[in-house]
Amino acid sequence: MHSRSAEERRAELVELYREAQACARCPLSKTRTQVVFGSGNADADLMFVGEAPGMHEDQQGLPFVGRAGQLLNKLLEEIGLTREDVFIANVLQSRPPGNRDPQPDEIDACKPFLHRKVELIEPKVLCTLGNFSTKLLTRSQRGITSVHGRPQVHELGGRLLRVYPLFHPAAALRSTKTLEELRADFARLPALLEEPPPVPIGAVAPLAAVAAAPSEQPPPTLFD
Ligand code: URA
Repeated sequence: MHSRSAEERRAELVELYREAQACARCPLSKTRTQVVFGSGNADADLMFVGEAPGMHEDQQGLPFVGRAGQLLNKLLEEIGLTREDVFIANVLQSRPPGNRDPQPDEIDACKPFLHRKVELIEPKVLCTLGNFSTKLLTRSQRGITSVHGRPQVHELGGRLLRVYPLFHPAAALRSTKTLEELRADFARLPALLEEPPPVPIGAVAPLAAVAAAPSEQPPPTLFD
């Protein structure tokens, strides 16, 4: 269930896109070629959040259009999805020079844009790609190697959703083992998208529903 219509949310996303084009909240605005806002389906059930634009993304103004992006496209295709089905964004909207790591002040400056995107798109499942987006959106210092492939329930953009940490596709391009783990984690995505919405801690199912469905799994609870 969405709180507002897809048209309303899409119109606000377009407004946010315009605001991002003019953003000068961090020094990367001086070195970038273009803002990379994100792209895809504004009403997607599935959202991906990577790290930051690289050289190709900076040139084209679109996320994940280089080699890591080609791998992401392939992994999506393997589970029957295309980029038009999902929304893809990054922690940072501007390229760090030389593809260096995002700095804490840059992440802080860009964070409100990311949270607003999540709020407007209202995804069911948000896949974080790699350490930067995983640590930011799970609000934890636990790294991707220990948390990948296990969904967590978090409140983001004003609602509960499942955060599903995945290895970054660029890491999978460097290691066959990582690629296989990423592929195995991807294979669990279709089932995850079918799960009922997460239920907040303390929320109790109506008695009639409990009695009518004795064999059902208990609803997932918030453990953030
Ligand atoms: N890596 C990212 O994290 N994001 C992109 O958009 C491209 C490569």
